[in-house]
Amino acid sequence: MSKHPVLIVGSVAFDDLEMPSGTFENVVGGAATYAAVAASLFTSVRVVGVVGEDFPQGVLSDLRSRGIDTAGIEQAEGKTFRWRGRYAHDLSSRTTLDTQLNVFADFRPRIPPAFRDTPYVLLGNIHPALQLEVLSQIERPKLVVADTMNFWISGESKLLGELLRSIDLLVINDEEARELSGIHNLVKAAADIRARGPKHLIIKRGEFGALHFDDQGVFFAPGYPLEDVLDPTGAGDSFAGGLMGYLAAVGSLEHPAMRRAIYFGSALGSFCVEGIGPKRLFEVSRTDLKTRMDQFMNLVETGGPVAFAVP
Ligand code: AMP
Repeated sequence: MSKHPVLIVGSVAFDDLEMPSGTFENVVGGAATYAAVAASLFTSVRVVGVVGEDFPQGVLSDLRSRGIDTAGIEQAEGKTFRWRGRYAHDLSSRTTLDTQLNVFADFRPRIPPAFRDTPYVLLGNIHPALQLEVLSQIERPKLVVADTMNFWISGESKLLGELLRSIDLLVINDEEARELSGIHNLVKAAADIRARGPKHLIIKRGEFGALHFDDQGVFFAPGYPLEDVLDPTGAGDSFAGGLMGYLAAVGSLEHPAMRRAIYFGSALGSFCVEGIGPKRLFEVSRTDLKTRMDQFMNLVETGGPVAFAVP
C-alpha cells in the first residue's frame, strides 16, 4: 500500500508563552508546524507558509529530515509571524496578548506545481479568503479538512460560509462551534454547521476529548489522561495533523478509518501538551505512538459489548 502525501497550509511562527511555570520566548510554533510534525509520523508532508529572515534554517532542515517538504515555505523580507499568549493557572484557558502578523500580513499562498495534486489537504487557521485561494490552486483532492477561529467566525462570516461549502471536514473547538452556529447545545450546533456544507464535523473539547459528527451519528474519543501537562499550545493543530496523517497513510475515509484517525489525533494532541512548544512532539517516535495507542485502547476497553448487558 503506498501512502498518500498530505498538504498543510498555515502559520509558521515564533511564540512567546507565559505559562504558570515561567515565560518561554521565541519558541518555534505555528499551526502548520505542529500539524506537519504530527502528520509526519504517518506519511510524507508538504507545507505551504511563510517565514521571515529571522527564522532559523536549522528548524527547516529538522522538518525536512522528518520527510516534510518545505519547498512551499516562502522566506520573505521581514520578521516571522509572532504570537504571545498567557495561560491561566490551571492551563484551561489562555489570553492572546499580542499578534504580530509581520510577513504573514502580505502572505498569499502559492502552491508549488509539484504539490497541486496532493490528495489530502489541511487548511490551517488562516483568513478564509486564503483558504479558498489554496483550494482554487489544487486539483480535485480526496479530502479537504479546515480549521478556523472566532476571529474569522465573527469577522468574515460570508467567506467562511463559502469555505464551509467547499470542504469535507471542519475541525473546531466547542466555543467556536457555539459561536459559529449561535447554538449552545453541541449536538444541535453540529447539525446546524453540517447543514452549511461539511459532511463531517469534529468538535474538540481539549482534555475532554473530541466529538465527530457525520450522517451516521456521533462518535466520541476521550483526551488521554496525563499526569503532567506543560503547555497546551498547538494541541489542536497536532490533533488535526495526526488525524490527517493517519487518513492519508491508510487511504480510506470509511467510518472505521475516521474513528481510528480521531484516536490518533487525540494521541498526538496528548504528546504535544507534554512539552513546551513542539519540543515533545519532535521527540515522539512511532514506538511511543504505538505505546500510547495501546494505553488508549486500554482506557476505553470494556471487555466487549456484553460488559454493558444489564445483569
Ligand atoms: P492552537 O493552540 O492549536 O490553537 O495553536 C497555537 C498556534 O497557533 C501557535 O503556535 C500560534 O503561533 C498560532 N496562531 C495563533 N494565532 C494565530 C493566527 N491569528 N493565525 C495563525 N496562527 C495563529
